[in-house]
Formats: sequence, structure tokens, C-alpha cells
Amino acid sequence: MSGKVWLIGAGPGDAELLTLKALRVLQACDVWLVDDLVGRDMLDFARPGTRIVPVGKRGGCKSTPQAFILRLMARYARQGRQVARLKGGDPFIFGRGGEEWAWLAERGVAVEAVNGITAAFAAGADLGLPLTHRGVARGVALVTAHTQDGSQPDWATLAHSRLTVVCYMGMAGLPQLVPQLLAAGFAANLPVAVVHRAGCREQQHLVTTLAHLQADVAASGLASPAVIILGEVVDHAMKLALPAAEASSAVA
Ligand code: SAH
Repeated sequence: MSGKVWLIGAGPGDAELLTLKALRVLQACDVWLVDDLVGRDMLDFARPGTRIVPVGKRGGCKSTPQAFILRLMARYARQGRQVARLKGGDPFIFGRGGEEWAWLAERGVAVEAVNGITAAFAAGADLGLPLTHRGVARGVALVTAHTQDGSQPDWATLAHSRLTVVCYMGMAGLPQLVPQLLAAGFAANLPVAVVHRAGCREQQHLVTTLAHLQADVAASGLASPAVIILGEVVDHAMKLALPAAEASSAVA
């Protein structure tokens, strides 16, 4: 049988949020290359004899070099194996899925992808927070402020778009991010939710405003991995229905 690489989204961490298709494909694979953000309990689903290779950052170590992971996937596939590249969330949302598929395809390796629930969507369900909401937000933008080349989204356009903006990988750079957003025209009193480990048992969140975001995050101790949800929809989150006076700085 010819080998293939499957780029599989594991969802936000909880094994229950794997799709049935992901589970079926995983159980048909001989080798799993497993990223950091993948919940450990998913490994229990591996068929006996599955080779499991952790390829994420562990205990503060540097992550496995991407070039090594690519070569490993190609090597196993050329041996005729079914290779699962299991990634947190969705493989095509800040997951390098596109780069990996292109690299493998250039070398004649067959690739398929299986969706996972991305962190923003898990956060929405956790908080009862509709990322799009009739009359409030006509869409949602998933963005990152953390890029290799230092480039930024067009914040000014987003500020006036009335889209909900969900920022990935934003926690470490908050001291720079908040002033940038304010300068670009995001309102100081814009509601913001920060959701740590969305879709997992250890989920924690806080709700605040853009002006208080940095101080409230620092006071709460919330850290990465977390998504930062900016937009009026935060006021419509069913599980954040707190009296206005308590709404700022509430950590749950
Ligand atoms: N492919 C992933 C994103 C990987 S980038 C996805 O679709 O979700 C890593 C960033 O994703 C983290 O810095 C954080 O911003 C976000 N993230 C991943 N898992 C998360 C989770 N369970 N809860 C909150 N944010 C998460």
C-alpha cells in the first residue's frame, strides 16, 4: 500500500472534541507525530503497535525543528506507512498545514487533511459567546500578532470592520499589542475575553475591556495558550452575564 500523510486537527485539547473522522483515520495510521497542544488522553486511542513520536516543545525545550518533522513525515510515507501529523486545533489555522502539504506534495508524497475545532471556536462554545451575532458582528477574523517577519495585521481596517477579532499567540506580546490596537482605532472600552485552554478541563477565562486588558491579564496570571476575543459579542456571551460592575476583572 502506498503511504500517505494525514494532517489531522486534534481540536483544542479534550479528546471528546476530536471528530469521528479524525478518530477513524488516526486508528488507521501506523505512525503519529504529535504536537504539544494535543491532549495526552488522545494517545489512548492509538492502536497497539502505533509508533508515537512527540514533536512539540516539552518542558521548556526547543521545539523539534520543522525541517526534521517534514523529513520524518516524508520518510515514513515513502516506507508505505500511513502517517498522522496530529496538531492542536485545526491544521490550517496557524498550524503550518499549508506549508507542510506544499512541501510534501513537491516531493510526490500524498497528503490529506482532516478538520479540527480551532481554539477560537472552542472558546465561543465554552462561554456561550457567539463569534458572529446578528446585528452585532457580521463576521470574525482570526489573526495573529506574532509573525516571523514581524508584520502585523491591518489593525486600522479591522478596528472599523465590526468584525469580531480573535487573536492567537497574543499573550506574550500584550504590552506591545494593546497600544497598537488603541492607536489603530479600537475603542478603549471594547469588551475583551481572554480564554485559556478553551475546550479543556483546565479552561480559565477573564472578561475585561481593551484599556484594562494588560493589567487584568497580569493580575489573573492567565498565560498562553489563550485566545483574546475582541468585540461587542463579548457582551452577548451567555456565560459571562455578570452585572456590569463585576464584569471587569472577573476571572472564572
Ligand atoms: N492550530 C491551532 C492554533 C495553533 S497556534 C488551532 O487551530 O487552534 C497556537 C495558539 O493557538 C496559542 O498561542 C493560542 O493562542 C491558541 N490556542 C491553541 N489551543 C488553545 C486552547 N485550547 N485554548 C486557547 N487558545 C489556544
